[in-house]
Amino acid sequence: MKYPLGLRPAARDFAAELNPEQYAAVTTDERHALVIAGAGSGKTRTLTYRVAWLLEQGVAPWRILLLTFTNKAAREMLQRVEQLTGRASTELWGGTFHAVANRLLRRHAARLGYEPGFTIMDADDQKALMRTLVRQHAPKDSKDRRFPKAEVLVGLHSLAANTARDWQDVLLSDYPHLERFQDAIGHIFEQYAERKQQSNSMDFDDLLLNLLRLLREHEDIRAELSGRFLHVLVDEYQDTNAPQDAIISLLAGGPESSLMVVGDDAQSIYSWRGANVQHILDFGKRYPDAAIFKIETNYRSVPAILDVSNAAIAANTGQYAKELRAARSGTKLLPVVLPAPDNRTEALFVARRIDELMAGGIAGHDIAVLYRAHFHSLDVQLELTRNHIPFRITSGLRFFEQAHVKDVVAFLRLLTNPRDEVAFRRIVSTFPGVGEVSAAKLWAAWLNSLDTWRQQHPDLPMQQTPHTEVFAGMKVAPKIRPHWDAFLTLMDTLHPVGHEPTPTELVATVVSYLTPYLRSTYENYDEREEDLAQLARTVTTSGELDEFLAQVALLSEVDKDVPDDDDCVTLSTIHQAKGLEWKVVFVIFLGEGLFPHYRVIESGDVAGMEEETRLFYVAVTRAEDQLYLSYPRYNGRGYDRQMCPPSRFLTSLPADLIDIWEV
Ligand code: ATP
Ligand code: MG
Repeated sequence: MKYPLGLRPAARDFAAELNPEQYAAVTTDERHALVIAGAGSGKTRTLTYRVAWLLEQGVAPWRILLLTFTNKAAREMLQRVEQLTGRASTELWGGTFHAVANRLLRRHAARLGYEPGFTIMDADDQKALMRTLVRQHAPKDSKDRRFPKAEVLVGLHSLAANTARDWQDVLLSDYPHLERFQDAIGHIFEQYAERKQQSNSMDFDDLLLNLLRLLREHEDIRAELSGRFLHVLVDEYQDTNAPQDAIISLLAGGPESSLMVVGDDAQSIYSWRGANVQHILDFGKRYPDAAIFKIETNYRSVPAILDVSNAAIAANTGQYAKELRAARSGTKLLPVVLPAPDNRTEALFVARRIDELMAGGIAGHDIAVLYRAHFHSLDVQLELTRNHIPFRITSGLRFFEQAHVKDVVAFLRLLTNPRDEVAFRRIVSTFPGVGEVSAAKLWAAWLNSLDTWRQQHPDLPMQQTPHTEVFAGMKVAPKIRPHWDAFLTLMDTLHPVGHEPTPTELVATVVSYLTPYLRSTYENYDEREEDLAQLARTVTTSGELDEFLAQVALLSEVDKDVPDDDDCVTLSTIHQAKGLEWKVVFVIFLGEGLFPHYRVIESGDVAGMEEETRLFYVAVTRAEDQLYLSYPRYNGRGYDRQMCPPSRFLTSLPADLIDIWEV
């Protein structure tokens, strides 16, 4: 092994950098070990030091396998190991389950009937293939019975893969409205598998399932790999799903292998993606010889934040009881609870406070705004943009870049500007059977009719274009006709004579028109409908329609030059924030019904409510120094406004642990 001179660190004093419980775990020689401990107690740190320790003991790096939950977490851990040991982490087998599966499958592809150069299909490729198959195989006789779109089928397919269930069971339990299409879906799924194999491609789920198949069906490979990895280490073990857990036990099943898993059952938040907290709870049963380490000291948060964290999780009975003690001292600010008059004011508060903090010397990258659902970030996005505070969103697309939001906004754009070609094309492509070519033809004809009409009525404002009158005469294909007419009628309803609809009403009208399309097009239409309801509320709080549209455009424009550097505040869903930490954390939209979600409340589902509670616990335990918990008393304004009581997570916090602010 070659090391640049001087780079190799002196032997490390592990005992000095770890507490006794961590040290015991890091240096254990038990074959099976579980570190189960609360948030911020140094579980990830323990794993990182364990790798360093193993290397110092002379274990070859290629005999260590380190599995983590996200790519980002994997990168950070490998970096830490490099810092600790001075060794290039590439020598080590480490990364997400998918990344490691990919690496192993490349070597043994032939055994499963693939070429080693197989392609990994990303989410878009997956949808594209599924879309082609839907087009070919959806029942032709179903004109109005809308067959589910590719996204929906991909979602169903994936949930089945990640829970190791038959897709038919998943369909009946989670997608009951699709039952009537079961035969056709089955046929499409068969084709889907065949086409992937033919094109030598695997989707993300295949990476896991194929690795599992490789290990199960090929004794020699299983023996080779489980003999090779002497030490298998897994972070965030509470969120492993069935195929992942099976892979772990096979890879760590060699005669000499050891397995160390770390996690916190109180932070299990991915059951909706097939994760099963039972894996961590049963670890001791499955490996009766396992050493179990508990760490009860928290190094991340100041005591005031830790008190709130402990109180937050106390309501749950479903987990190992553990009470965290703070390693840090200091009488910083009590966590703040802020009831804001409405969503706009809440966002304004967040933006102002961030501004003050940054002016006071706190860097943007030390601040995070966390929320339960992506759409909760909408107002904060607008407010941060207005205040020129750069931010980075890790929870997915920016709100206005999401397809279904763009679909709805397209109608508003075309209403204010009938010459908006992009909006027009987006709208007509929601009609069944309209592709590039027919969209182009429609656009040309639309423009033509519009020009003719404008020559006759030069003084009428653009918005007053009577759509049915102007465009009903256009030549359109017979199969598009009904959609075309419905669309024109809708456009006329959007500006009825003698009554100026509010922007909220406009959005509501478009949404109800689009609902059948949205339902059949997008996965999780429930959540997407919520996005659109929030869109309606935000439109109202943002003034006139054209002003709002300008803001939206501006927001997308600003996106492009946001530096991806250290000064960006992080906006993230709580799910994506797992394992991370920031000096200052805002948790927003903590209204009853928003978080916990009203569907969980209404269903009375105890397990579901416990998962909501764990999610809240994950959120508050991300904070090191300052924590702000806020909610809008009213969400939206005027006619559509919803009253929003504080979340039970807030009202159940002991009053002496928090500071209530008023704006
Ligand atoms: P989570 O449950 O959120 O994943 P975790 O248990 O993995 O948290 P870490 O992220 O490993 O916790 O540690 C939290 C913070 O505490 C980190 O900043 C880490 O460096 C620090 N820390 C952990 N243990 C110690 C220690 N013994 N001495 C000093 N700092 C520590
Ligand atoms: Mg961690």
